[in-house]
Amino acid sequence: MNENRRLPAVDRVLQQLPDLIEAHGRQLVTGCVRAELAAAREGLKHGLVLPEEPELLAAIDRRAAASARANLRPVFNLTGTVLHTNLGRALLAEEAIAQMVEAARSPCALEYDLGSGGRGDRDDLVSGLLAELVGGGSPDIAATVVNNNAAAVLLTLNALAQGREAVVSRGELVEIGGAFRIPDVMRRAQVRLVEIGTTNRTHDKDYAEAIGPKTALLMKVHTSNYAVTGFTKAVDEKKIAEIAHAAGLPFVVDLGSGTLADFAALGLPAEPTPQQALAAGADLVTFSGDKLLGGPQAGLIVGRKELIAKIKKNPLKRALRVGKTTLAALEATLRLYRDPDRLVERLPTLRLLTRPAAAIAALAERVQPAVQAALGGLATVNVEPCSSQIGSGALPVERLPSAALVCRPNAKKPGKTLSTVEAAFRGLPVPVIGYIRDDAYHLDLRCLEDRDEARFVAQLQQLKF
Ligand SMILES: *Cc1c(COP(=O)(O)O)cnc(C)c1O
Repeated sequence: MNENRRLPAVDRVLQQLPDLIEAHGRQLVTGCVRAELAAAREGLKHGLVLPEEPELLAAIDRRAAASARANLRPVFNLTGTVLHTNLGRALLAEEAIAQMVEAARSPCALEYDLGSGGRGDRDDLVSGLLAELVGGGSPDIAATVVNNNAAAVLLTLNALAQGREAVVSRGELVEIGGAFRIPDVMRRAQVRLVEIGTTNRTHDKDYAEAIGPKTALLMKVHTSNYAVTGFTKAVDEKKIAEIAHAAGLPFVVDLGSGTLADFAALGLPAEPTPQQALAAGADLVTFSGDKLLGGPQAGLIVGRKELIAKIKKNPLKRALRVGKTTLAALEATLRLYRDPDRLVERLPTLRLLTRPAAAIAALAERVQPAVQAALGGLATVNVEPCSSQIGSGALPVERLPSAALVCRPNAKKPGKTLSTVEAAFRGLPVPVIGYIRDDAYHLDLRCLEDRDEARFVAQLQQLKF
């Protein structure tokens, strides 16, 4: 009790913190002072001595800084997975960021027709661009945008097949990370899933025989995060479209990733495009905005005008629609695809995916000494070849040759050192996220662009083990 009296009053402490109050506001700092004094009081009960004043003020300072820091923090993604769902997937192009900021800052013609002065439709901001880029400029192609591709699939199924049946091959009943499973989405959309074929083989006749009076559509789902290999057979889109159209039914393709770029021409593993799906006869395609497209989180539904019109009338569309900043970023991203010559340089996703292994290795050699110096005798740091993944369920078996800084603990039992090193990198002001494999901590530098080099190296001296 006597010791308690020696704790300073809150107001007295606050008087000594004018700069902190200026930086964070009186309310936040007062809360931090109270919390630190309470911690000191609690410590006393457990036999600890009261902190000296400078120690107390430093603790308040740290608490205020931690409390004021944003929860959504930038990190260095050195996981080797370019489109990392847990790290926010695609990085936006500067053009997209600029248009997003502008839309955020000022009123904008989101649903306002500047030509007539009447009400507009937010989908019109991108529908024409998508018809041009995906539908080859066909006037019969339209598009609508929702919150993500999971929403696009849910909405499409509910709008076109509620109370009826959708036919899907057993080889395509995919589960995407985060509990998106085709059978569950069907149920939520109030659609009865009719599974056909087997896990490894599905034939033309499986589709034809599944069609009955209750069939609403045929659907193909891109097996984006796994590959069925060996004794396999799938029916191509052209054939499924023929079977669907012969029965007067629409054919829907969920592409998942759906890049608009020609991956083979970029030296990347080939990836089916929504252009190809529509050209093969699909009536609708759905794909993500923030996977290979390289834009904001969104779900795009592109295809036949009358089907899009039907989807837009569904009440779920209103519940799943996107806001102005998303549309701003999406529009700007799509515009970049009109200039394929400069696309790779402007769109971070493609720039990172096409980055040559030699350039990554050269960067690794440059930063190796700084990382080795920061780790001291704890671990030995080498530059080694590694392979990056595309991520987000795109091209699951393909790997991109890359280079990593590989930190091997010098201790006999590496486990503890590895978790210490991993936690230390994660604890930096801009947390560095790597991965542990084969008793070594790896930093795949594919996603550390040359322009980030100085920022990456500068904070290494703050590593605390
Ligand atoms: C990724 C993916 C989805 C879900 O897309 P989100 O944009 O993450 O909601 C749906 N279907 C397939 C085939 C996918 O690959």
